[in-house]
Amino acid sequence: MTLSRRPLLTFALTAFLATPFAAPAQTPAAHVHGQIRLNVVIEGPAIVIEMESPLDNFVGFERAPRTEAEKKTAEEAVAQLRAAGELFKIDPSANCKLGPVTLRSAALGLGKGEEGAGEGHADLDGSFAFNCTNAAAAKFIDIDLFAAFKGPRQIEAQIAAPQGQFKRTLKRPATRLAWSK
Ligand SMILES: [Zn+2]
Repeated sequence: MTLSRRPLLTFALTAFLATPFAAPAQTPAAHVHGQIRLNVVIEGPAIVIEMESPLDNFVGFERAPRTEAEKKTAEEAVAQLRAAGELFKIDPSANCKLGPVTLRSAALGLGKGEEGAGEGHADLDGSFAFNCTNAAAAKFIDIDLFAAFKGPRQIEAQIAAPQGQFKRTLKRPATRLAWSK
């Protein structure tokens, strides 16, 4: 009896987990215009910044560029993000140099970009890796995303550092993301 009922239960559980309405709970507020989410991980000699953002924050639209002006705007935004050492200025005591930068945006044809959170939306996500001689000494990052782009108003950051785990919110025009005294 028990054996024969087990597959049914498994099936029911799988179906429940696969229901679409379960998704928003896993990624709360993943796509809010004006908001950028950063995940900063300091481990060994590396500081890696993972970024999730609506494409709108950087270019003012959320689809493939159509006009020459839009193409130029997109190219400039991508170039600025690739020069991430200018946007993320890590505490000099960590002595970091910019390493690999990966950008993902389906709308801009970059990497394996995910679709945005719903119809008519698109993301521009990125991964910015820094190689440091003393990564553990880093206590702040000066972030220039507000100065570089008109769209972002707020940065929600999570930091995993040797000192612990931190959550921080930066609101325009603040620049310093600090997590340790
Ligand atoms: Zn959007």
